[in-house]
Amino acid sequence: AFDTLMIGGGPAGAAAAVYAARKGIRTGVAAERFGGQVLDTLSIENLISVPHTEGPKLAAALEEHVKEYDVDIMNLQRAVELVPGEPGGEHEVRFASGASLRSKTLVLATGARWREMNVPGEAEYRNKGVAYCPHCDGPLFKGKRVAVIGGGNSGVEAAIDLAGIVGEVTLIEFMDELRADEVLQKKLASLPNVEVIKGARTTEVNGDGNRVTGLTYEERASGELRELALEGVFVQIGLVPNTEWLKDSPIELSERGEIVVDERGMTSVPGIFAAGDVTTVPYKQIVIAMGEGSKAALGAFDHLIRS
Ligand code: FAD
Repeated sequence: AFDTLMIGGGPAGAAAAVYAARKGIRTGVAAERFGGQVLDTLSIENLISVPHTEGPKLAAALEEHVKEYDVDIMNLQRAVELVPGEPGGEHEVRFASGASLRSKTLVLATGARWREMNVPGEAEYRNKGVAYCPHCDGPLFKGKRVAVIGGGNSGVEAAIDLAGIVGEVTLIEFMDELRADEVLQKKLASLPNVEVIKGARTTEVNGDGNRVTGLTYEERASGELRELALEGVFVQIGLVPNTEWLKDSPIELSERGEIVVDERGMTSVPGIFAAGDVTTVPYKQIVIAMGEGSKAALGAFDHLIRS
């Protein structure tokens, strides 16, 4: 059995493993795909002190750093069930492979995934004009034309954010009204380089084989197809936390399915911590996930020495 076991091997899980191992406690990491979302990222320019890196390179560096320590890494292991122990006892995690692991403390760091439109061109032009994170990729579109798909809070926030960087923003909302908070909608309406198209269903991302060149949408009222010429498409229709496997556990989840944590990263179950994109902590970023993972591991260590 472990003293602390991380479920998930993205930036949060990797950071937690390094911090835990440096305390000399029995540490493990079990992950479906070590590296996490970082593996799907092309260039990364906001990991402070690393002006430029690439996703696969950073994922390899995360693994290398963890392997500097005595940590059991179990890759290709998908957790399917959490069985919390009695107070002071061991928690159990069961995996799709049939394996099961026990640990005195856990750090849940299973991350999140962006909801996709699932239209032609979206996957093909991912990282070639199709983007999901304005904080990450906004500056790549300086002075260019972009669309933001989605008129909820995240879409409208993204449009406001991007309007300060890019040339023109077109926000596309499926429904006939935006769903974002009033104050955000007012701010959006005040910006000269933003156009809003409501009642529109994006049907295709167009490109020239190398990069995005435009977008096709259906005007829902008339059924007519229209095209926009542009260089970027930011999809903002939701970030889904990977907590399906916790649905039957006593871990408290927010309305959006995120794990609720306190300021030390502890969940509603003592001894079980969580970190990164899977939690309620706002602003889903690598540097934040690393910080939160480190904090959760220190929280777990603190818990161990007190129990
Ligand atoms: P994740 O990276 O999502 O890792 C989750 C881990 O848990 C993975 O190992 C996964 O396999 C594992 N897992 C999931 N479910 C299970 C399960 N049931 N059982 C076991 N393991 C499981 N952020 C930036 O700061 N800068 C950027 O430039 C940037 N660009 C991005 C570009 C793209 C295309 C994407 C998708 C994201 C980008 N991000 C960027 C966001 C950043 O990648 C995330 O904020 C960060 O990876 C979150 O780390 P995490 O460890 O919390 O989760």
